Order: sequence, then structure tokens, then C-alpha cells
Amino acid sequence: MTPTNPSPIDVGDVRIGGDGFTLIAGPCTIESREQMLAVADAVVGGGADMLRGGAYKPRTSPYSFQGLGREGLALLAEAKAETGLPVVTELLDVRDVEDVVEVADVIQIGARNMQNYALLTEAGKTDCAVLLKRGLSATLEELVSASEYILKEGNERIMLCERGIRTHETAYRFTLDLLAIPALKEMTHLPVIVDPSHAPGRRDWVEPMSLAAAGAGADGIIVEVHNDPDQALCDGPQSLRADGFAAYAERVRTVAEIAGRGAPVAA
Ligand code: PEP
Ligand code: MN
Repeated sequence: MTPTNPSPIDVGDVRIGGDGFTLIAGPCTIESREQMLAVADAVVGGGADMLRGGAYKPRTSPYSFQGLGREGLALLAEAKAETGLPVVTELLDVRDVEDVVEVADVIQIGARNMQNYALLTEAGKTDCAVLLKRGLSATLEELVSASEYILKEGNERIMLCERGIRTHETAYRFTLDLLAIPALKEMTHLPVIVDPSHAPGRRDWVEPMSLAAAGAGADGIIVEVHNDPDQALCDGPQSLRADGFAAYAERVRTVAEIAGRGAPVAA
């Protein structure tokens, strides 16, 4: 059975949901002007619909690179102006909401913050769309419940994102739960996006998970891409190489079309 298509939401000229398929791509973390613009150039050239890039990073260790903060947001703004693509960036802390909404078209709420109710409430008060990632150990019901905190404030432009959950399996970082796609479509009308990067944690397994997600009826994918992944400050091993992005995007779109999702429809 083909899962029912959700009510679409519009972000700039991009319509997410309905019968379209949205490709969101960019670096895990904004590291420098050169890196951000090189990746942005590659993803817009490969036909991405939106650009991602983190300025505030939730890292397991406090000693790991935490992101460039406001300087990163400025670089993201430059990439947005250059490509014309709407941008997705993570809001990690309620204290940064004003700075983030100045640049973001879509606020990402990361897996570790899925149940940070103060943050969800702040995101709900903004005019930005929200990409809400499933918590590492959250049930789908908890994910949907978390989205209600945003909806309750009057913000209805929400995408839910499956990014892998913690299971007993240790052969990869997380278990990508693709059954979340049809299940969430039964539970809500919200678009469902899959992040195929963080569960495998390695590049060669990102494309198979992307194709599987597209085939299973996802409304889109958010994927990490880097111009020089071996030197990346965060999530390099799982980042697609920028020079291979266009061919990857074409293969993903082919499968999405088989699953009934055409090219994205302009808003
Ligand atoms: C990310 O998108 O880079 C990220 C940190 O995601 P998650 O919150 O799913 O771990
Ligand atoms: Mn990442």
C-alpha cells in the first residue's frame, strides 16, 4: 500500500509533502566560508531543494568542536543568498532563537532536544518551519506528542524526521527505523523526512538507506555532504562527497518517482 500523502507545507518556493519529494543537503557543520560555499555550490548544482548546515552543534563530548555560532549563521546567510535555496539549521538553545530565525527558513530541533519542551515552545512561536528529529530512544507517539508543543503555539509548518534510534545492535551507530514512515503517515498528516546519514555513520551505507527511504514513501531526505570529508570537523566519515552528489541525487529521485513522488512542486 502506498502511504497517504501528507498535507504539504511551503518553505519559500519549496513545497514539502503532497506528492513531491524534497532533497535537503549540506554539511553537518559549518566550518569555514570556503567549505560552506563549496558544498552549497555542489548541492544546488545537483538539484537539492534546500541547504542544511549547523552553526550550533550538539556534541557528545564538550571538548569536540561546538560549531561557529553566529559566525556560522552569517556564512549560512551568504550561502543562502548565493544559491537562492531555503536553509535548515539547528536551534540548540532558547537563548539563540533570535539569531537563528534571522537566517533560518527551517529550524532543526535535534534528536537530543526532541523533548526539550521550552525549546519546542520557542520554535512554535517563530515564523520558521520546524524539522523535528526523533529522539534517540523516543517512540513515534512521543515524537508526535513533542510536535504538539510546536503546534500548540500556532506553528503548523512541521516536518517529522526519522534519523535512527538506539537498539541492541552495535554494528552501526543507530538503527534507521524505516517503518516510521508508513506508521507516522497513519498517525499524522505531517510530512516525514528521513536522515540517512547519522544511523550508518559511514558513507557507503548512506545511499542504500536513502534509496530505501525514498522507496518507502518518505517525503524527503536530509543528507550530509562535504567537499573534503576526510578533514571535516564533524561527521566526516558519513558525509557524501560533494563531487558525487549530483549522481546520488538523480538515483534517489528515480526511486522516489517509482514510489509516486515527482519532482518538487513550486509553492
Ligand atoms: C545533525 O543533523 O547534524 C545532528 C546532530 O542530528 P541529530 O540531532 O539527529 O543527531
Ligand atoms: Mn551531523
